Amino acid sequence: MKLTIIGASGSFPGPGSPASCYLVSAQGVAADGVTPRTWRILLDLGNGSLGVLQRYIGLEDLDGVMLSHLHPDHCMDLCGLHVAIRWNPEGWTAGRVPVYGPAATADRLAEAYGMDPDPGMREDFDFRVWQAGSTVSFGPFRITPVPVRHPIDEAYALRVEADEVDATGAVVTRVLTYSGDTDTCEGLVEAARDADMFLCEAAFHEGRDDGIDGVHLTGRRAGRMATEAGARRLLLTHLPVWNDPQRAAAEARETYEGPLAVAVSGLSYGV
Ligand SMILES: [Zn+2]
Ligand SMILES: [Zn+2]
Repeated sequence: MKLTIIGASGSFPGPGSPASCYLVSAQGVAADGVTPRTWRILLDLGNGSLGVLQRYIGLEDLDGVMLSHLHPDHCMDLCGLHVAIRWNPEGWTAGRVPVYGPAATADRLAEAYGMDPDPGMREDFDFRVWQAGSTVSFGPFRITPVPVRHPIDEAYALRVEADEVDATGAVVTRVLTYSGDTDTCEGLVEAARDADMFLCEAAFHEGRDDGIDGVHLTGRRAGRMATEAGARRLLLTHLPVWNDPQRAAAEARETYEGPLAVAVSGLSYGV
């Protein structure tokens, strides 16, 4: 799998990054079941991300969108993608784009756009509803939404698995876990169990945000979750503009011994 950071800014876009959006690609096969092709999915499509995304892929090359939850910094640029699908004068040949998310996704987007909820954006998006803990197969990916602790009706961490053939010819499963937005919880540890890459939010700082429970992680708490899960690599993300990335990384270093970095828009990682 390959992970490209489109947007990593927490809660709203910053001067150097859109809000949450992560492009994940893996090799799979086409609809004929034989021809190899690259599949591309997004984990979230927050505000500002649709523009930067087009530096990396054409919008028609997108196979699906996987939403962690329905806060605007994680889903609102679906409104722009709807326009690209519906109103491109040259047409849109890729068909409806699958969008996995909470039960309220279709209605929320229609409301955001001031549309009648029926049909809303259903002619552009094939809305599919997450079932907590239930793994979805999508191209080469297996994606499991695991409920986490965040103040909204449904919030999920997304565990993304894909099989690859390693140098010895053996099939190995690679695991990328994305925290979505969450405070510490068992579900997050479960979702990140033995992950090759744990893309984990760290929106808060120790000391500054101690009075707010059940919303976000600090770097230190993210590190603790990574350690408890046995994650092999930790990438901190969702830092708002008022956070200091070095401080977040230093906090995580107190509780996690493995390879550690802060996500930067435009960087790619092999998973
Ligand atoms: Zn957020
Ligand atoms: Zn949120």
